Amino acid sequence: MLHTEGSLLTIDVGNRETRTEDIDDVLSSFVGGRGVGTKLAHDRIPFDADPFGPENSLYFTTGPLQVSNMSFTGRMNCTGVSPLTGGLLSSNAGGFLSRNFGAAGYGAVELTGQSDELLAIHVTDEGVEFEDVSHLAEATVGEVGEYMDDEHGLGDDQLVVAGPAGENRVRFAAIMTTEHRAFGRGGLGAVMGAKNVKCISFDGDSAPDIDINQIQMDIHREAATADDHPMKKAGTTSVTEYANHVSALPTHYFSELEFEGASDIGGDAVAEKKFKRGTCSQCAFACKLPTKDEETGLETEGPEYETVMSFGSNAGVDDVVSVMKSNDLCDELGMDTISCGDVVSAYLAANDEFGNSDLVHELVEKIAYREDEGDLLAEGVHRAADELGVEDWTVKGLEFAAHDGRTLNGQGLAFAVSNRGADHMYAEFYSKEYPLVGKDEAVDPEGLDGKPPLVVEKENHNAVLDSGVVCKFSRDFMTEERLETLLDAEYDELMEMGATVVELERHFNNRRGFDREDDTLPYDLPEFESALSEYYDERGWNDDGTVPEGSSAVSADD
Ligand code: SF4
Repeated sequence: MLHTEGSLLTIDVGNRETRTEDIDDVLSSFVGGRGVGTKLAHDRIPFDADPFGPENSLYFTTGPLQVSNMSFTGRMNCTGVSPLTGGLLSSNAGGFLSRNFGAAGYGAVELTGQSDELLAIHVTDEGVEFEDVSHLAEATVGEVGEYMDDEHGLGDDQLVVAGPAGENRVRFAAIMTTEHRAFGRGGLGAVMGAKNVKCISFDGDSAPDIDINQIQMDIHREAATADDHPMKKAGTTSVTEYANHVSALPTHYFSELEFEGASDIGGDAVAEKKFKRGTCSQCAFACKLPTKDEETGLETEGPEYETVMSFGSNAGVDDVVSVMKSNDLCDELGMDTISCGDVVSAYLAANDEFGNSDLVHELVEKIAYREDEGDLLAEGVHRAADELGVEDWTVKGLEFAAHDGRTLNGQGLAFAVSNRGADHMYAEFYSKEYPLVGKDEAVDPEGLDGKPPLVVEKENHNAVLDSGVVCKFSRDFMTEERLETLLDAEYDELMEMGATVVELERHFNNRRGFDREDDTLPYDLPEFESALSEYYDERGWNDDGTVPEGSSAVSADD
């Protein structure tokens, strides 16, 4: 199998020490990205680690294609124990960081320990430097970028940054890069903040070489010329009106599935605000959305579809500029827009304030600094629901993404079983259930009959892409045969690796107390319990949702 090259760089921020070690066996078995991050985290983080403690670690990893010129490779991975779910979680960010990370020459970077001082860490192919940046306490993502540019000549595409929310341990704080791109889900920004690390920069000239092959060039050319693809115009928001039409758009804190203001915040509304092309490293598909509102001067990137849901329909807000502003505030303060929008919507539901944009923006700021009611909301929906008097719309503590499972029932099952919680990209099953997108391979969104094996297959396939690291929006361009050629392995071998990644996550989470009781939903689906048993059976797991003793995926000495 093709795999990432390079050693593991460990940065112990408590002792300000670094070391490198050979991890070729891990790289050759797990390709890169999420696979490598998961294997390292599973084997090196204690099962009882406090997510905010020094024993939790973050693993930054790329895949072997991140040094290529192929489209859909402008992303990288981060893995650690989530302070939101309490489970092992990988998050994936786009932008231009992956090439700069690769240029520093390491296969993976492990961030561990806890510093007394607020630190910036500079990683280059010549070594690591620690910089005391106490003066950047509670600085926004943009302010950190300005400082690093002025003082070190570093671009924001060379940085990962914890915003004020990360420093304040907001449980859904994101790690930000390239200004508007986020390792968004699960609160890894709060793990970085708890380590007292404000920023890490990557620089160098030591990227490994890669052979360019015909498949890479074909994919790149097709991505560049797919002019009619809806995502080229409006990115992920292109699905908004369709999701609303088929009753899959969560609205008014999940109490409805259609939003009458959908067209005011959806694909066309966002596309109207788009003022230039936006992309990730080397990607000719360019689905990103740099947007600008001439009237207010607000300039940001996005919102993406999920943010249109969380800060738009779910909050009862039908003003696209308001959603842009919520999105921008989250990027500047360093928070996941899905979890933040959902917890704000929960507050609006509790106080009968749907549609109050001023209150939405005030709450976002208060959450980042944990001021007043923001302190409760910073804990996320799962921990705040009782006090707010609202239903707990989470799975494993992670707030729901859009593509509602009450309409797309297979996606509902996928939300329930995902090791990451209610995240849409773990299995991305909605793409099979929307007839518009799935075309001839679409499945009936109603019911769960026959779907558990398909969910397993999608989860494994996505674990392969996340290890590659190949953007999931390559789905209309990436056949099994192409993936085999790109990663130089049989598809079955790759899928086996994907299954191992999912099983390692599950095993780690089992050891932290997760089982079938956690694979649950806040709504009923037909034949849900039997579908759950079928899913476990397909994976070879116990009927209580645990990985059996002696599983080959799990090393014998743990
Ligand atoms: S398809 Fe979009 S998100 Fe994926 S790498 Fe390309 S620009 Fe980035």
